[in-house]
Amino acid sequence: MSQTTTIYPLRGVIQHYAWGGQHYIPSLLGTENADGQPHAEYWIGTHSKGPAQVKVDADWQDLTTLTKLPYLLKILDVNAMLSIQSHPNKGQAQIGFDRENEAGIPLDAPHRVFRDDNHKPELMVALSDFWLLHGFRSLESIRQWVQEMPAFRAAFSEEITDIESFYTRIMRMSEAEQRSILTDLQQDLKEVDTEDKDLPHYWALRAFESYGMDPGIFSIYLYNLVHLRTGEAIYQEAGIPHAYLEGQNIEIMANSDNVFRAGLTPKHIDIDLLLAHLSFDTVVPKVITSEASSSFERRYPSPATEFEIRIIDVTAATQVTINSFSPECYFVLDGQVQIESEANDFLCQKGESFYASKDIQIQLNALSDTRLVRAITPSKAAETQPI
Ligand SMILES: [Zn+2]
Repeated sequence: MSQTTTIYPLRGVIQHYAWGGQHYIPSLLGTENADGQPHAEYWIGTHSKGPAQVKVDADWQDLTTLTKLPYLLKILDVNAMLSIQSHPNKGQAQIGFDRENEAGIPLDAPHRVFRDDNHKPELMVALSDFWLLHGFRSLESIRQWVQEMPAFRAAFSEEITDIESFYTRIMRMSEAEQRSILTDLQQDLKEVDTEDKDLPHYWALRAFESYGMDPGIFSIYLYNLVHLRTGEAIYQEAGIPHAYLEGQNIEIMANSDNVFRAGLTPKHIDIDLLLAHLSFDTVVPKVITSEASSSFERRYPSPATEFEIRIIDVTAATQVTINSFSPECYFVLDGQVQIESEANDFLCQKGESFYASKDIQIQLNALSDTRLVRAITPSKAAETQPI
């Protein structure tokens, strides 16, 4: 069979970051976690920090030997809240990457911000109830929270005229001033409902417990707190601050490592760079729901040109045929399915993956009710597939 134009069993890479949960990913993959290691992310892609393995004939080898994907597909289990971050657009990434190269900052230096010259749009689909921070609230809403919390009311007695100057003032305050306000806020939290995950107080309390007097805690009251339900999605554009708080999701992103951090992290924060690249516009979170792309498949539309996520459902004892538009990765979320191309066939079950090169006809014969995640690079053809 041809080495580069068919379907192959695929194996992703687990990332054991400390914020990950212990159970969700092992149970999804059907593996043991006897020593209780955190399982934060499962990566399927060709990123140099964890390329997937593909089985060619009898041997496993890096997927990079067959293709270089423009996207990275992940499954995340967020147990402890993640850092607040934003990402550059393509132009900013090119300028920043060149500038840091000219300054001679090594690619792996802790204070290096631009690791490559690419942008990093991201889309996530919730696999459970999922909470995140996403973009600045309206000025009205920010003013309301400042009035509501005595610590803020006392500290910010002046009129808050715009988000940019208010946020800049907070981020540029002395550490002593930040600490004094946060100490008062910690007291205020004793008087309010800290049990409700749909209120910022719950997350502020958790952030105090995890990070101490971290200036990122102010942002919990300045950003939108979004609660997604299973199957709902959200897209992170360049410049939009965001932080994943809790839950499981599928995430897909352009292949890049460019992150500006804005708090809730022990990692390097460059305030000047962050402020120069942040969008201070009010964001009304746009929850994306899937739309049918065929009788058995749903897609999540987004502006990204590098990636698209689709969900395929095949009922037990039925068969569907797919044509791959691009190099594509598939992950079985549930069930058991026989995969067939002209050249070969194999069985895939919950937690297993396969890779299909472009322009392959793939037949899926479901042995039980089966749900798959499909990652593609969209094309015009993808838009016009008949339903
Ligand atoms: Zn991000």
